[in-house]
Amino acid sequence: MKRIYLDYAATAPVDKRVAKAMRDFELKNFGNPSSSHREGQVVRGALDFARTSVAEFLHAKPQEIIFTSGATEANNLAILGTVNRYQGKSKPHVVTTTLEHHSVYNTVKELEKKGIIEATFVHPDKTGKIKADDVLNAVKKNTVLVSVIFVCNEIGTILPVREIGNGLAGKGITYHVDAVQAAKFYNCHVEKLGCDLLTLSGHKLRGPKGIGALYVKAGSKLENIAFGGSQEYGLRPGTQNTAGIIGFAESIKLLGSLEAREKTAGKIFKNKLKFASILMNAPGVSLNGTLDNSFAPDILSVNIEGVDQDGLMTLLDLNGIAASTGSACVSGSTEPSHVIASLRDDPNSSTLRLSFGAETTNSDLVRAGKVITQAIIQLRN
Ligand code: PMP
Repeated sequence: MKRIYLDYAATAPVDKRVAKAMRDFELKNFGNPSSSHREGQVVRGALDFARTSVAEFLHAKPQEIIFTSGATEANNLAILGTVNRYQGKSKPHVVTTTLEHHSVYNTVKELEKKGIIEATFVHPDKTGKIKADDVLNAVKKNTVLVSVIFVCNEIGTILPVREIGNGLAGKGITYHVDAVQAAKFYNCHVEKLGCDLLTLSGHKLRGPKGIGALYVKAGSKLENIAFGGSQEYGLRPGTQNTAGIIGFAESIKLLGSLEAREKTAGKIFKNKLKFASILMNAPGVSLNGTLDNSFAPDILSVNIEGVDQDGLMTLLDLNGIAASTGSACVSGSTEPSHVIASLRDDPNSSTLRLSFGAETTNSDLVRAGKVITQAIIQLRN
């Protein structure tokens, strides 16, 4: 049985050209980029080149790119680094949303629980959308950070990140955008977004896992969250994941122009619409979100009444479908997703997230639609 992978939001298969670039690099170059001898300096040169490629993608400067172990670390550095360097008298206030990935949501929650910050979590409306004013109106005198996800990894909402950036301009508040799910399709031009910090992750872009980056606008001051050597402009000590960085830069190069990315998005969106129309015929199924361009073209989240979530996942997996309940980071957890909980309060329904790639075919979707519909009918009986 051919397996059908519908979990691209959790991770995407590595592009063969990325894997080759990494392997070739790793086999030829073993030097430590911080060493002054030739072996080290060759690697240093390759790292500088990769840094420039990532910077160009964001229209940033190379020295504004800090390589990290992934987006979770980049998000932690953005939030903790901003809050910890704050020296004002009143408690710092952070604005974020309930559509964030756990690496932002849980970090802000933890700081709030420890009494280190005040936090405002902006909720979406019933259709899963958040307006720029909802975020901007939450800003207070003591707000030091606004951290917003560009595309929600669980339900696909596209947040008005540019409008928020415009609204925050000149206010002296650090603005962080988690662009992990957005970078494959949308313009991440940091000046146009008006952000000070922006997060990327390699494995959502056909690159390797365990590598990401935080864009840190020149002049922004972040406090370290780890201490050691002076790598990554002193902000992220530790010998770099050199092959990972090479692969990450290659995956970004392979994304192509914005036009090419938009074309891919359009193709995937058509598949999403077809798939949604199949799925909506299954009993008890309703959409989380809406089927328009305020949601990502590759993420479809549905609510299914009267079906046990774990049972559904198991049945789909046994029948060759790889899907997810929401974020891969919560799979196996008994905690309900904070994203879904902020949309509705219904303990008797399940969430199914399906996310597509450019190679997902029409026949994959027809078969997946049948399998999912049958599984729902079986579990409801
Ligand atoms: N932010 C978002 C929006 C994500 O989707 C993810 C991964 N699911 C992360 C952050 C964390 O990325 P990483 O796996 O690189 O830590």
